[in-house]
Amino acid sequence: MPVHVPLLLYDNYTRSLRPFAPLAPGGPVGLYTCGPTVYDYQHIGNYRTFLFEDVLRRVLQWNGYRVLHVMNVTDVGHLTSDADTGEDKMEKGARRTGKSAWEIAALYTQAFRDDIAALRILPPDVLSRATDHIPDQIAFIADLERGGYTYRTSDGLYFDTSRQADYGYLARLDRAGLEAGKRVDVGEKRNATDFALWKLSPPGSTRQMEWDSPWGRGFPGWHIECSAMAQRYLGDFFDIHCGGEDHIPVHHANEIAQTEARVGTRLANFWMHGYFLLQNDAKMAKSAGEFLRIGALVERGYDPLAFRYLCLTAHYRTQLNFTWDALDAAAMGLARMRSGFRALPADASVTADGDAIARFTGHVNDDLNTPRALALAWETLRGDMPEPVKRATIARFDDVFGLGLASWRPVEEEVPADIRALARARADARKAKNWAEADRLRAAVHDAGWEIEDTPGGYAVKRRVS
Ligand code: AMP
Ligand code: ZN
Repeated sequence: MPVHVPLLLYDNYTRSLRPFAPLAPGGPVGLYTCGPTVYDYQHIGNYRTFLFEDVLRRVLQWNGYRVLHVMNVTDVGHLTSDADTGEDKMEKGARRTGKSAWEIAALYTQAFRDDIAALRILPPDVLSRATDHIPDQIAFIADLERGGYTYRTSDGLYFDTSRQADYGYLARLDRAGLEAGKRVDVGEKRNATDFALWKLSPPGSTRQMEWDSPWGRGFPGWHIECSAMAQRYLGDFFDIHCGGEDHIPVHHANEIAQTEARVGTRLANFWMHGYFLLQNDAKMAKSAGEFLRIGALVERGYDPLAFRYLCLTAHYRTQLNFTWDALDAAAMGLARMRSGFRALPADASVTADGDAIARFTGHVNDDLNTPRALALAWETLRGDMPEPVKRATIARFDDVFGLGLASWRPVEEEVPADIRALARARADARKAKNWAEADRLRAAVHDAGWEIEDTPGGYAVKRRVS
């Protein structure tokens, strides 16, 4: 009998590694992950977080649990500043593209679905739009109002964080310090940390997305959608809530505050966060203008799963600096793993190696240690097990990695690594306004039978047709 290895997960609420046990033994594990704000494409940083959540889901399944995974789609109410000021990102995105807010929500939700499919991220069981749950949010806010947790200002209804002694515990917020500093302009808010539950449409103007409510015509704040939809689909207290590390101090602190005020729980038993993907050692952010999306990697000749592989090489609780060299190395690792796996003969009568599976469980159950799990896959591939056993073992590992090794077939028209490198050197030369060098590199790519095409996302590398 294999020794049972407990699944340890890092919970940011208690700031500790805790053995995971489902709240409802035998029932599905409730998992809520904050989803995309669909005013634009998601960047590869966002996908690092979604990939971490996918690995978590697969590791829960590896441990024999059924998972009920709920993800929201933020299609209203997320303002350009997390401090409840600025514009609604959706209305701003609509102006940028000349489409309606509803059209861009549909467009970027579909783009998100396409990207997660390309990354082999398992689709959530429930993908729920904030705009489909306005009555739930209004009912939630009305309860908070009845409980005395709210106050009105000229632009909406706010949550009074001073009503909770432990507000911001998740982030270990120093509220006294925040209040004393008061460097932030709080406007009509009573406390710096108070946040909007319902925002009124500006007087005299009509928003594309607005609804009637007991407080007037307007739209819900961003945080309330997650508290309301999580409660609707997963109940008052469920197993695991995830998001990126940026959500700890504001969004998740506020979800907890609302839910604690309404039903007295901290919403989820475990609070887990994926750490940032950085670009040039700084936060990768959509609002910063240029950002890399999955489509841009594909245009440049990368398989999206090379990005998945890259994310597996770093622990989710460490920040990861994105570089093209790192992506090249990941693409190489993936290519070698695919061809190594493909060369192994299949034999339906053999099963995975028990010892290797136990060691693998030890790694992934150690707070999702994918770098060590990946190292074990390499050790297995290069080791001296009978080849069909290697194949059966690595195929099992891939249930967690999600690289799709068993279904991979060699692609004839893959852009070779040296062509990708030439195209990138040309882009760098252009950035440095070194036009002669850029032309030389373009010609080199051309001579090798490929061509570079400039695109809105940067450039694309394609097989030359003439
Ligand atoms: P958003 O669409 O901005 O609501 O973000 C979607 C998810 O991506 C959230 O869980 C964020 O916390 C996460 N996220 C945002 N930026 C990054 C980044 N640079 N690296 C990793 N995750 C991120
Ligand atoms: Zn959320």
